[in-house]
Amino acid sequence: MSQTPRYRFAPSPTGFFHVGGARTALYNWALAQREGGVFVLRIEDTDESRNSPEWTSGIIDALAWLGIDSTSPQFEGPYFQSQNASLHIAAAHRLYESGHAYWCDLTPEQIQERAKASGKQGYDGYSRDRGLEPGAGRVLRFRVPEGTTVIRDLVRGDVEFENSSIEDFVLLRGNGSPMFLLANVIDDIEMRITNVVRAEEHLPNTPKQQMLWHSLGHEPPVWAHVPVLVNEQRKKLSKRRDKVALEQYKDEGILAEAMVNYLMTLGWAPHGDTEIVPWSTIVEQFRLEDVNHSPAFFDVKKLHAFNGEYIRALSIADFIATCRPWLTAEDVPWNADRYNEDAFIKVAELVQTRVVTLSEVPAMVDFLFLDTPIIDEQAFAKTFAAEFAVPFLERCRAAYASIDWTHDALKLHLDALSEELVVKLGKLQAPLRVAVTGRTVGPPLFESLEVLGRERTLRRINDALSRSV
Ligand code: GLU
Repeated sequence: MSQTPRYRFAPSPTGFFHVGGARTALYNWALAQREGGVFVLRIEDTDESRNSPEWTSGIIDALAWLGIDSTSPQFEGPYFQSQNASLHIAAAHRLYESGHAYWCDLTPEQIQERAKASGKQGYDGYSRDRGLEPGAGRVLRFRVPEGTTVIRDLVRGDVEFENSSIEDFVLLRGNGSPMFLLANVIDDIEMRITNVVRAEEHLPNTPKQQMLWHSLGHEPPVWAHVPVLVNEQRKKLSKRRDKVALEQYKDEGILAEAMVNYLMTLGWAPHGDTEIVPWSTIVEQFRLEDVNHSPAFFDVKKLHAFNGEYIRALSIADFIATCRPWLTAEDVPWNADRYNEDAFIKVAELVQTRVVTLSEVPAMVDFLFLDTPIIDEQAFAKTFAAEFAVPFLERCRAAYASIDWTHDALKLHLDALSEELVVKLGKLQAPLRVAVTGRTVGPPLFESLEVLGRERTLRRINDALSRSV
């Protein structure tokens, strides 16, 4: 009987959820789903100084946003590494009893002195055959065997390490606490993990971990190390330089589906000629063997392009519902209870084709919900500097008092004025748009005026004219 595949995602809580972590989680989730396996969430929280319960709930929320549902029967956890310390310590003692590990009493200074004297860096195995018993301040070290270790990695192929380049690494510190490397392996063994898919930065430690699996009498998991994400300068994404927190993208109005799809295309491409595919297709097609080895460029522009496509693919009703929280949020520039969905519905389609993130929506329609528009002063000064601006608006004001209030009639009138004043329509519209919406860009003008209504339009033209004198 074949074993149920057990994948895992093992984040260390750091206060925010990195987009690279999100991609790793999605890779694991896609594979667990396709193979009818399990996705284990394990919080690697042994660094107590960097621990807090909110961070764990932040991780679960972020996973839920990505569609990794903690109530699914394929989801297991969260488990907490810090709760397993006694298992980690017990395993270390087993390794000592079986001769795979030994105690060492050298201080870091002594290790350094010996390294200096021999000209070889690192720990030289001094206590290997000294037969020390456990004792205060003594560390437990793994006895690295001779030979080579080959990591069979689904992304990178076979990666070979000379064991001679690996020092006898520490399993238990002088105070008896387990090292991360050990904790990570023991948890994987205890949780019967069959597949470890994680960031490339862990590859150098993998031979040590594989040795631990073998020494404890277990077959190691299938490994896969996925390439790092880099920025435009091909530098590893870092929280100092780059926007790396998933939350920041959510807050600017990236749709979860767009984020998920985009993250999956970093180093991998769906079959066929479009990269924009639903999750079900991803689950069907995703293979670690097809993931590229080279660093993947996290291209915010491309993410925005994906998001624009996802926004445009929403039904109008879904778009309106998706915008609702953005238009009723506390920080909108109008009184949140002034949001009028009937007015928004009338321009929603025009907005939907023009935004790439949802955070752009409020500024596109604020003129509908504010008593007076927020005037972009620079735009005002620039557009009203044109000689035609004031006489043109005066003409508009006169005509708009009685014209049919439809966008077609409003436009026809402007077409006629454009000919008469010999000013191109685009140019001519600018002062009217600034007067009414406060800005030079936004949804199509005549439709906007129609929704805004005659009375408010005229009032705003009046205000602009008195401002311009
Ligand atoms: N806790 C580690 C990290 O967040 C992951 C280790 C692993 O996946 O094995 O980088």
